[in-house]
Amino acid sequence: MANNLKCPKCGITELTSNVFEDVRVDSCSKCNGVWLHKGELNKIAHPHEGDLEYCSIEHIAEDRISEFNCPNCHDVKLKKVNFISYSDIVLEYCAKCEGIWLDRGELDAINSEIDNIHKAPESWAHRIMVFLSKLPF
Ligand SMILES: [Zn+2]
Ligand SMILES: [Zn+2]
Repeated sequence: MANNLKCPKCGITELTSNVFEDVRVDSCSKCNGVWLHKGELNKIAHPHEGDLEYCSIEHIAEDRISEFNCPNCHDVKLKKVNFISYSDIVLEYCAKCEGIWLDRGELDAINSEIDNIHKAPESWAHRIMVFLSKLPF
């Protein structure tokens, strides 16, 4: 796979391919941000139930547009989404290619959120129930 994506934040810095948790991801050596293709967040985050990406992007507000472009689609602005909808962690997501940009430290924040959920399994089960009850079928 050609790998000359440019960092959406640093502009001219090219992302470099690194293996992280057995997954090859594109990261920026300057700002330490990480670009994840569709499905990669679920692979590199701590073990979890459910689909982290789907839970994060199910409610995309049209007006939460980032100032940064998708490194993959170039002319498409990223959109801000909250990780698993209710957390304080704001990710940037491309609605076109479904990639996700993580700033430095956001993966750690995501993993501690997952760990917190595991420490409170009842509240997690409750959230899953609330989530399932919102699905349109
Ligand atoms: Zn960068
Ligand atoms: Zn894109």
